[in-house]
Amino acid sequence: MSPGPRKDPVAVETEVREKIHLEILKRTGAYHANDHVLLPSGQHTSEYIEKTLVTTEPSFTEGLGAVIAKHFAPWPVDVVLSTGPGALILSHCVARAHPSRPVVVYGAKGLSGGKRRVTIPVEFQRLVRPASKVLLIEDLVSTGSTITLLINLVEQLGAEVVGVGCLWRRTSVELTGKPVFSLVSRDFPTYDPEECPLCKKGVPLNEEFVRRRHARRPSSVQEPKAAL
Ligand SMILES: [Zn+2]
Repeated sequence: MSPGPRKDPVAVETEVREKIHLEILKRTGAYHANDHVLLPSGQHTSEYIEKTLVTTEPSFTEGLGAVIAKHFAPWPVDVVLSTGPGALILSHCVARAHPSRPVVVYGAKGLSGGKRRVTIPVEFQRLVRPASKVLLIEDLVSTGSTITLLINLVEQLGAEVVGVGCLWRRTSVELTGKPVFSLVSRDFPTYDPEECPLCKKGVPLNEEFVRRRHARRPSSVQEPKAAL
């Protein structure tokens, strides 16, 4: 009997690894699958990821960070750079597990003249120097715009981007020629309601995520007025 066609072992390994990572993200409550979800844009989809929940379980984040660090272990890294709270938590875990013992720095996202921008605090500028080797870390890469800003910032400072590590990457995103390693590469199709196959099948629409966003306000607290 001749053996049947075999799948490429590397592809199988990637597939298995992705399944495990997806399962981990599901356990944090961040990833929802096999659903029929209304997105804030008004479009429908079958999968959804709540970005803010992705890094809420320290042991999962540490494990996932170590996988990213292992991937980039052959390259010397001086600095791990990220922006946004979720990415910063992950970047700490990556840096902790990387054999070069890189430092962790972060940028702040903002708007300037209606355009998005990223700035790094002046105190960090002596750490990101010309010829520094920088690993960029992101939690979820959806449009790639934040990563592009980070790449430009690093290059402006004369430093070098070693690569980009992330938990999740939408496969349709093009990044500017840097090596990208993502634990999950997955794009979920989104549909206009008129063309949605799930609507056609009569699957009930889950409006919970959109409703939650509208109904819930972020919790906040204010400093009391100083006593006179
Ligand atoms: Zn639908």
